[in-house]
Amino acid sequence: MSAGLNIYVLVKQVPDTGSKAGLNPDGTIDRAKAKRMLNPFDRFALQAALHAKRTYGGKVTAISMGPPPAVEILLETLEHGVDEAYLLSDRRLAASDTLATAYALYKVLNYIGKPDLIFCGLQTTDGDTAQVGPQLAERLGLPQVTYCEDFHMEDGKVHARRIIEGGYQKVVAETPLLLTVANSYHPLEYKSFRGAWRVRRLARDQEEMKKFIHSIDLDVVGADPERAGLKGSPTIVAWTEKVGELGGSCTMHEGQSAHELVGDVLKASDLNQLLVGSSSK
Ligand SMILES: Cc1cc2nc3c(=O)[nH]c(=O)nc-3n(C[C@H](O)[C@H](O)[C@H](O)COP(=O)(O)OP(=O)(O)OC[C@H]3O[C@@H](n4cnc5c(N)ncnc54)[C@H](O)[C@@H]3O)c2cc1C
Repeated sequence: MSAGLNIYVLVKQVPDTGSKAGLNPDGTIDRAKAKRMLNPFDRFALQAALHAKRTYGGKVTAISMGPPPAVEILLETLEHGVDEAYLLSDRRLAASDTLATAYALYKVLNYIGKPDLIFCGLQTTDGDTAQVGPQLAERLGLPQVTYCEDFHMEDGKVHARRIIEGGYQKVVAETPLLLTVANSYHPLEYKSFRGAWRVRRLARDQEEMKKFIHSIDLDVVGADPERAGLKGSPTIVAWTEKVGELGGSCTMHEGQSAHELVGDVLKASDLNQLLVGSSSK
């Protein structure tokens, strides 16, 4: 009997968009000050991976590359029903651009085993490039379906619906396959009671935790440090600027008719001053 699908989901820890992350003097994000969260786009990828497992059978493995606190999001994936997880963490990965990130993740996938399906989020809320998924597929020599918003499997093939400008496209692809999942895919379901209980138990027993969350580094996966981190990143971020707080104050205007309402707006705005000023000239 077949052991089912070997399903992978790639997840990244990003600064919480609701927290006030500042910038370091060199223009990089001050990640130490920011709260952390699972990349919101990866929640859709996680739902897709869990759906594939529940519907077609198999095992889901989550993979993340990031500093040690990224273990938090891996625990979160376990609460949702992921079977095991890998965290690639290594100081030599610091300042990786998408080329170096895709290279490192490719080495992780080669190290872990043969995938049938790999799910990535469409993009992240920090790097925001949407390049890692497609680059990874390219490195692995796999076909890819990007912007996937729904899929099912028939005769071992994936039938996917992907977003295109002004509509959608239906594609059929062989496995192994990499999919980047759009945020119009089904939202992530609630954590399971069983998953939450399992993680609570793991949190109390570090040895047991190591059986399900594997911490690995560049040496373990056989990656060339020259191709990772800053050394392996040809992209140079010249400068980053904070553009100030978004959102200003808001005043509500009331009126029984459009005429009354516009009059009220004019009365309260500088525009009124401007109009008065220009008409008096
Ligand atoms: C010169 C330069 C320096 C940088 N320095 C830093 C730095 O010091 N620290 C830093 O954190 N970032 C740094 N970045 C940002 C870094 O390039 C990106 O965060 C990273 O390459 C991933 O790209 P992205 O976030 O745009 O992912 P996208 O391509 O938008 O992500 C698509 C999907 O790929 C998967 N994915 C992406 N990244 C990961 C990951 N790490 N683990 C697992 N899955 C993933 C997820 O499924 C995600 O939804 C730097 C970028 C540049 C260009």
